[in-house]
Amino acid sequence: MQRLQAFKYALMPSGEQQRQMRRFAGACRFVFNRALALQKERYERDEKKLGYAGLCKRLTEWRNSADTAWLADAPAHPLQQTLKDLERAYSNFFAKRADFPRFKKKGRSDSFRYPDPKQIKLDQANSRLFLPKLGWLRLRQSRDVLGTVKNVTVNQSCGVWSVSIQTERDVEQPVSQGGAVGIDMGIVRFATLSDGTFYAPLNCFKRHETALRRAQRAMSRKTKFSNNWKKAKARVQRLHARIGHVRRDYLHKTSTAISQNHALVFVEDLQVRNLSRSAAGTTEVPGSDVRAKSGLNKSILDQGWFEFRRQLDYKLQWRGGHLVAVPPQNTSRTCLCCGHVSAANRQTQARFACVVCGFEDNADLVGAINVLRAGHARLACVPQGDFLRGKVSGAVMPPAAGTQRSDSSVAQGRA
Ligand SMILES: [Zn+2]
Repeated sequence: MQRLQAFKYALMPSGEQQRQMRRFAGACRFVFNRALALQKERYERDEKKLGYAGLCKRLTEWRNSADTAWLADAPAHPLQQTLKDLERAYSNFFAKRADFPRFKKKGRSDSFRYPDPKQIKLDQANSRLFLPKLGWLRLRQSRDVLGTVKNVTVNQSCGVWSVSIQTERDVEQPVSQGGAVGIDMGIVRFATLSDGTFYAPLNCFKRHETALRRAQRAMSRKTKFSNNWKKAKARVQRLHARIGHVRRDYLHKTSTAISQNHALVFVEDLQVRNLSRSAAGTTEVPGSDVRAKSGLNKSILDQGWFEFRRQLDYKLQWRGGHLVAVPPQNTSRTCLCCGHVSAANRQTQARFACVVCGFEDNADLVGAINVLRAGHARLACVPQGDFLRGKVSGAVMPPAAGTQRSDSSVAQGRA
């Protein structure tokens, strides 16, 4: 089985390399924005959009023209990769999978990718990586890179440069261990398993919220673009980065623990994107319950449910298991004992009490067990052999759920 995996390390670049990387990220942003502006003009004039080849031709013109000759200093492949990214964003928009691509802003996801492995050299013995036009870069290599290098993405966040090395390798077809489990995702508890175990809510954002608010207030008092403003801004960014790190760490630990102990995991097919879509609405159609929804929004995003499911999916795959999304109909309102379905069964957020037979339990646990039952019912309609061959994935998991997997059973991510 082929496994794609990304290995991420902090870089220890020289001053000159840092300047170069900033320039390259800037060149990629410039090319992306210019190509997007071009596509936008053509779209408004009802002209056909340029394909990747057409965009590359324009890029060559820009690199050769006198007023943007500085583009020629940046490596060619990352610039072309930027056009590929734009092309994909554009196709996603036309296929109604995404919003219209937006212009890139300086300082927001400064990154560029070297897509050609032939140009990349990895010297693990000396913890260094060679990239075109940058030379040898020192890595903070916390562990070995496994497999053959496919591409490298250079990234800057809060002043720290890092690389993500994407590799490919053959691994033995794993045999999954453990049984089936249903998961209920909630606000009070981050996740409740149908076997009774649960994971505490991820409140890292709330914990850091005070510090963040204070830092943001301090920043707003400074004169914009002054030295003190820049210092205050760096502090805000550092806090954001810390929140991100704490959250990622928690999600990885939780998804690893669950995937190690279960072969088959059922989750509710909640459309996180719909739930968290702008509560404020538009001027024509103002949203209802704006305050409550933005509170829920924040909680959902805070919890990182979507990222958690993505991690569960690839980690289960690595261990030979499966993640299956089931429709969320009535999972929180169905009695485990008599099967009575009623919203009245859920008296409070935390307590489930059946109005017919009097059965009572924790509401999240009831939800998790209902998810498990719904999952088993769903699989019962499918011949077991088909499921094990992975044929059924598409049918069981709607493509929009973010848990679809390719036929070659290739997963991406971090262990
Ligand atoms: Zn009942």
